[in-house]
Amino acid sequence: MTDDPYSILGVSKNSTDAEIKRSYRKLARQYHPDRNPGDAAAEERFKAIQASYEKIGTAESRNEYDQNKRMEEMFSGGGRSSPFGRGFGGVDIGDIFSQFMGGRSSSRRNEANFGSKRNRREVNSKIYRGADIESGLDISLEQAMNGTELEFKHRRLKRCSKCKGSSFGSSTTCNSCNGSGVVTKGSTITVKVPPKAEHGQQLRLKGMGHEHPEGEAGDLTITLRLDAKDGRRWEDGALIQEVKIPFSKLILGGKIRISTPSGKLVQLEIPKGTKIGDRRRIQGQGYNGGSLDVEFMLEEPEELTKQQELVIKKLRDSGL
Ligand SMILES: [Zn+2]
Repeated sequence: MTDDPYSILGVSKNSTDAEIKRSYRKLARQYHPDRNPGDAAAEERFKAIQASYEKIGTAESRNEYDQNKRMEEMFSGGGRSSPFGRGFGGVDIGDIFSQFMGGRSSSRRNEANFGSKRNRREVNSKIYRGADIESGLDISLEQAMNGTELEFKHRRLKRCSKCKGSSFGSSTTCNSCNGSGVVTKGSTITVKVPPKAEHGQQLRLKGMGHEHPEGEAGDLTITLRLDAKDGRRWEDGALIQEVKIPFSKLILGGKIRISTPSGKLVQLEIPKGTKIGDRRRIQGQGYNGGSLDVEFMLEEPEELTKQQELVIKKLRDSGL
């Protein structure tokens, strides 16, 4: 079985924190040992669900998990054509640091700076650049539609204020940064979300990534995640809304009313013989005038009345 917490929790990398929480609650209920006594498969699944939720269940832990994953991918080269062959665990921290710090900027900028005699690295026509940071930001559909300004907190490497980065790569010691020229610091910025922002849209903030002891700072890329609320999720840019239908209505057909993301009530015709998982596209009722894909689910009764139980027994006897 996969150990990817996103797939174990049935969500995607771009799911909002709230969506992850909802999916976790649903799965934890479904596979809870109280509900599946003595079922080893359910127990194993339940443990995997719990472990996954520990990894990505809060914004902080998720951020950390995502960062580590990116580092792992960066240094393992996707696993095959790795320059380090040994994988993440065996990589020397010095390698990581130089790789992390060593990103070169474009040749255009190199040319622009060519001839400046500010330091030896530039004479070698190499300009160093701090690493980029990628992060996610959850907003409501309303915030996305109207545009908004939000405070965003993240941690990044900043140039050491004591040695101004000069101890990096030199024999001078600095007890503030231990010679790395940078220290990790919290940073709070205001992020402007433009109106009609899309799910998965990326905002690039120049120079807000990791700083480099002597080069320029990397960028911060924020991926916007639109939280479409309970029962809705994004799938390849399409907004899906789950709608629970009673068994009899699936079989016999009928009408239902659903509440769309904009809060409008819309009546839908359920054709006779509708199956669980069937979908229907409603134009104009999704986000920002887009379409909404309704997915039919079975509404499971919590408790049956005596009469309903009797009728179901008759159904059973009839072979259904
Ligand atoms: Zn320092």
